[in-house]
This record gives sequence, structure tokens and C-alpha cells, in this order.
Amino acid sequence: MASFARPLVLSGPSGVGKSTLLKRLFAEFPDKFGFSVSHTTRAPRPGETHGKEYFFVPADEFKSLIAQNAFIEHAEFSGNSYGTSVATVNQVHEQGRRCILDIEAQGVRQIKASTLDPVYLFISPPSLAALRARLQGRGTETDASVQKRLATALKEIEYAKEPNVHDLVIVNDDLDRAYELFKKVALGEQITSDVLPPLDD
Ligand code: ADP
Ligand code: 5GP
Repeated sequence: MASFARPLVLSGPSGVGKSTLLKRLFAEFPDKFGFSVSHTTRAPRPGETHGKEYFFVPADEFKSLIAQNAFIEHAEFSGNSYGTSVATVNQVHEQGRRCILDIEAQGVRQIKASTLDPVYLFISPPSLAALRARLQGRGTETDASVQKRLATALKEIEYAKEPNVHDLVIVNDDLDRAYELFKKVALGEQITSDVLPPLDD
């Protein structure tokens, strides 16, 4: 399969800028890519629409989807459930678009055990201080939720440091620079991977 056709799995700590990069990509290329719209039990944030960012479902519906084997992968994150449905990914493939998944680390592990064979791209913050500032600045999380997400971020970064987990790393320091690299990866062009910063501040 040509590398352009392989799905792209985007992961990285909450607040690092994944949605921001994706939004730009989909605005610049409205027909090339298909976002794997996940199911989640978390409440929509202001401006989020059912079927666009997520399928927002109650916990009992999520459980019943698990029982029906509807998910390629699913995980608990910060007190809510998230999952990638087989049907959604198939739909994107049928449209002839490159499928892009935005998932956390437990999902990455499960995808590695599946037949999907994607390219794995990790988006790293330049520092933990910057990540904290972005999570707080987004204004969508309570203080407790920011703390939870930062604690999970440390685990995600530890996992990303393991060899062969990700094919590529982009440090989202300057957004324009990160976007140019991200666009190349999405279009199947070669880039030189960034080096994961120490992130121990
Ligand atoms: P994620 O989808 O990874 O959780 P978001 O895309 O929601 O993260 O970004 C979190 C916040 O950080 C948003 O308010 C966004 O505007 C901001 N942000 C994204 N990239 C950058 C950047 N390179 N520099 C500064 N702020 C950024
Ligand atoms: P948020 O609540 O900020 O939208 O997302 C929280 C985390 O859940 C992010 O790291 C995001 O990548 C991840 N996520 C979103 N959808 C899925 C999914 O379908 N599966 C998994 N495993 N993680 C997901």
C-alpha cells in the first residue's frame, strides 16, 4: 500500500495542539482527508457538534457498542470513555480519503495489535510549562481536569520515549512551523523527525 493511503495516527498529550493542527489541515484540504470521528462519553465543549468532533454518547450506549465489538480500540481517559469505531474508519476508506485518527496512548497500543498498519505521529509540547499554559488557556477544563490531564501527559510522554512506538515526532513549539511539518506528513512527504525534548521541568 502506498504510504499516502496508510492511515495516520496522531497522538500526544491533551492540550498539545492536535485539534488545532487538524483544523488547519481540513480547512486547507477539504477533500483529501477523513477524520476518524470517535465516540466518547464526555460532554461536548462549547462549539463541538455531534458527528463532527465526536459522537457524544451516554455510557450505557458506549458499553453496548463495546459488547457488539464495534470498536477497533477504546480506552478510558480522564474519567471518560473514547473509542474508534470500525464503521467510521471503513467509511473514510470507502470515500478514498486518507484516514486520520486522534487517539491517546492506550489506543495506540491497541492499534499496534490490529491490522490497521498506520503511520504513528507523536505531537510533543516544547515543555511541560507550555502544555500546562495551553490546557489552562483553552478554558475548557476545570483545575482538577487540567491536573488529571497533565498527570496523564507524563505517562504518554514516557511511552513515546520507548523505541519504535512512533514513526515521527513533531514538536509543536511554533504553530506555523509545526503545521508545515504536519502537512507534509499528512500528504505522505518525507520529513526529518524532530527530537523529543527532555520534558522534565
Ligand atoms: P489538543 O487537541 O491536543 O488537546 P488543542 O488543539 O485544543 O489541543 O490546543 C490546546 C490549546 O493550545 C488551544 O487553545 C490552542 O489554541 C493552543 N495552541 C495550539 N498550538 C499552539 C502553539 N503552537 N502555540 C501556542 N498555543 C497553541
Ligand atoms: P479530549 O477530551 O481532549 O477531546 O480528548 C482526550 C484524549 O482522548 C486525547 O488524547 C485524544 O487523542 C483521545 N481520544 C480521542 N478519541 C479517542 C479514541 O477514539 N480512542 C482513544 N484511545 N483515544 C481517543
